[in-house]
Amino acid sequence: MADLSNVLPALERIITGVVEPRAARLDADANFPVEAIAALGESGILGLTIPVADGGLGLGLDAAAAVVGRVAQVCGSTAMVLCMHYCGTAVIVAHGDAATRRDIAAGRHLSTLAFSEAGSRSHFWAPLSTARASGEEIVLDARKSWITSARHATAFVWSSQPAAAEGFSTLWLVPNPRAGLAIVAPYNGLGLRGNDSAPLAAEGVRIPESARLGADGKGFDLMMGIVLPTFNVLNAAVSLGICDAAIAATAAHATATRHEHAGSSLADLPTIRAYIARMKLRADLAHTLLADTIAALASGRADGMLRVLQVKAAAAEAAIDVTTTAMRVCGGAAYRKELGVERAFRDAQAASVMGPTTDVLYDFIGKAVCGLPLF
Ligand SMILES: Cc1cc2nc3c(=O)[nH]c(=O)nc-3n(C[C@H](O)[C@H](O)[C@H](O)COP(=O)(O)OP(=O)(O)OC[C@H]3O[C@@H](n4cnc5c(N)ncnc54)[C@H](O)[C@@H]3O)c2cc1C
Repeated sequence: MADLSNVLPALERIITGVVEPRAARLDADANFPVEAIAALGESGILGLTIPVADGGLGLGLDAAAAVVGRVAQVCGSTAMVLCMHYCGTAVIVAHGDAATRRDIAAGRHLSTLAFSEAGSRSHFWAPLSTARASGEEIVLDARKSWITSARHATAFVWSSQPAAAEGFSTLWLVPNPRAGLAIVAPYNGLGLRGNDSAPLAAEGVRIPESARLGADGKGFDLMMGIVLPTFNVLNAAVSLGICDAAIAATAAHATATRHEHAGSSLADLPTIRAYIARMKLRADLAHTLLADTIAALASGRADGMLRVLQVKAAAAEAAIDVTTTAMRVCGGAAYRKELGVERAFRDAQAASVMGPTTDVLYDFIGKAVCGLPLF
């Protein structure tokens, strides 16, 4: 079985050869990272978490977090596409068919989640969209509000109300494109502009009953048991990769930039050094929490779910704080594009409004600490 050290050289080649040179243009033009995803597919990195028996690398959430975090240091958009791919893949590993798993391992299948809806908004656990049996088929109708990789994913891991059973939701694997699916509007966001996180309407979309992932009515259990830990950990890894990039750019700028009349650099100013120290401290606290969350999940620790709730909120808020400080420390140079700091600042805003949002997580964490039920 491969370990992460076998994967890193290929990842570094893709980062320096494909991801980094395109990152600024991708952001400016809101282009999807087509070349990067193809290269990650060819290298086996899209199949990182697919079992070896299905042709994947058989690695776990710790490896996925390392890969996503490293990519986020150069391109937040590509990292978030990868984050959503590994989330969809986690459901497919647990409940999908072997052919789909083999396609992911071979780099032929890009996954994502189609959970958020215009009606229930960030409360992704409560879909209003429907699934209705029609002979051997299921008919889906939905107003999905955000789907990363909307035009580029091979299939969506899709939530709906149950077709017949009791329960909050059911998950399906919906091929893309499919008759009845339509992008409502192209994505033109503040940050993560290469994400293609577009709204999508489904009208009378027909899929086979066998496309169901898990049992009818059990979608909520898969969302909480599989998707939430994967998404919160990987979303935190994206936030912290963005923090690392902002800190490195800020330190480089502060040491290289001089007030020539005074014969000193920005880094010679104690105020500037204190800001950089606070950025590093904030990011490293969240990094430590991320490592502890992964350890808690791997060993089945009792506080694993509390850590899952905490880590996304902590990393998302750290990213906003760190990149805001980077904008201040780098001054007018950060306000322009050349340092890449303003891209990190814009990309960092997304995580706190991605469901479960930071404010919802604060509510959940408070409930958990008070011994109250989350739902
Ligand atoms: C870049 C990006 C990519 C995305 N990709 C995907 C994807 O691939 N798949 C997918 O399914 N979704 C995706 N989303 C959607 C995301 O998960 C959320 O559903 C969406 O951002 C919520 O926005 P909203 O305005 O609809 O939230 P709203 O629910 O309207 O929330 C607005 C505000 O109210 C707060 N709020 C809401 N409920 C509560 C509460 N109970 N307590 C306290 N405060 C609350 C929120 O924290 C937020 O600040 C993506 C979002 C972004 C920004």
